[in-house]
Amino acid sequence: MIPGARLVLLGRQGAGKGTQCVRLSRHYVVPHISTGDMLRSAVKEGTEFGLKAKQIMDRGELVSDEIMGGVVDERLQSDDTHNRGYILDGFPRTVGQAEMLGKITSADPLDLVLDLVVPTDVVLARLAARRVCVDCATNYSVDAPPRYGWVCDNCGGEVVQRADDTPDAIQKRLDLYELETAPLIAWYDERDLLTVVDGLGTADEVTQRLVAAIDVRRA
Ligand code: ADP
Repeated sequence: MIPGARLVLLGRQGAGKGTQCVRLSRHYVVPHISTGDMLRSAVKEGTEFGLKAKQIMDRGELVSDEIMGGVVDERLQSDDTHNRGYILDGFPRTVGQAEMLGKITSADPLDLVLDLVVPTDVVLARLAARRVCVDCATNYSVDAPPRYGWVCDNCGGEVVQRADDTPDAIQKRLDLYELETAPLIAWYDERDLLTVVDGLGTADEVTQRLVAAIDVRRA
């Protein structure tokens, strides 16, 4: 039985976190927890919370730490994450959220935080080309579309451009990343939890680098 893992993946918008988290989640057999996907599900369900979240997300702003901390706390208490661990994608995004995560996981602390690094010009090009399945959140791009029209290969859902992948919202998210999320890199480094991984290259190459970094840490 493959041992579980408790991981956080950091990286700018378009760095490839979503794609790599799906692969790592299969490799280590642990759930992929994407706060962005959780919020988009709430939007799709049309709950009151989802409607509020949609306005914030479409502007490229951040949902409050208190709300996100509550959402993640609840998710990390379920049996699957409790027993096997998790890969967190999109949380924490602020030092306040990292402090909350430290409290939530105090009994079973994180193994490692990976920072997936990709230069800004590359992430801008990737975000402009990104398309996503509205049902299962699989990522595609105009350069690597689904096999048949804009219908998801994985689940048959509709593949569209995300409402927050507009030039204004992309710029806002990248600015907020520098302001709110980049300080986490030093924060985790000081706690000896950080490994930096080059996010350029094919998806397979990046997965191999991530797995190598994780396995060195766990050896
Ligand atoms: P991206 O990394 O491309 O911005 P995500 O799918 O991770 O995309 O998140 C989309 C949006 O969801 C964010 O712009 C933000 O509004 C909201 N969101 C996701 N995770 C968090 C979080 N941890 N804290 C606050 N807001 C969040």
